[in-house]
Amino acid sequence: MDDSVFDLGRQNSSVDAKIVAGLERLGEVFRTLLWQQSRETGLSPIQIQILLFLAFHDPAKCKIGYLAAEFNLTKPTISDAVKVLAQKELVARIDDLTDSRSHSLQLTPTGQRIVDQTSGFANVLSQFVGQLNGEHKTLLYESLFALIYGLHQRGLITVQRMCKTCVHYQYDGQIHYCGLLKIPLEADLLRLDCPEHIASQNSA
Ligand code: SF4
Repeated sequence: MDDSVFDLGRQNSSVDAKIVAGLERLGEVFRTLLWQQSRETGLSPIQIQILLFLAFHDPAKCKIGYLAAEFNLTKPTISDAVKVLAQKELVARIDDLTDSRSHSLQLTPTGQRIVDQTSGFANVLSQFVGQLNGEHKTLLYESLFALIYGLHQRGLITVQRMCKTCVHYQYDGQIHYCGLLKIPLEADLLRLDCPEHIASQNSA
């Protein structure tokens, strides 16, 4: 009880606690915005999240097991959500020609229409972020990046496709560098979800 960031006595005397409470509020905004889409489409929040993931990631990642790790849910939970999406003809299963037990998921044209309708659900937040000045944005992004990496190291965020967990990432103590793209990674160029990411061994 004494340690709770929701204890206002502690919260109001600690910037750490206020930051955590602020992050909780922001998480609530995402949930609210997603539920709005849910009501409009008749799909559950996780079903919408799966459709959005399929729309923006390569087929190798669009598999039940990967989705389960991505969303920190069990494979049966993801399978149930995908079954409904398939029944509604929003996704189709594509057999893996190299492994008869495996298949990936692909959006159907109807699924793509739902993505077009819902993928901007967080844009209202982008508008607020866009109003911050450049220096504040970079500081905020650096802080978020460090928090997400730390939480990944603690196992609280499972799958990451961020620079610091990538085989191509190099850091000499001063400059972050991408060995694949062969560019220095200024703070605002560090990626959170990179299509070229390959997990380094010590990031698992
Ligand atoms: S490949 Fe992508 S994730 Fe990896 S270091 Fe380069 S920019 Fe970062």
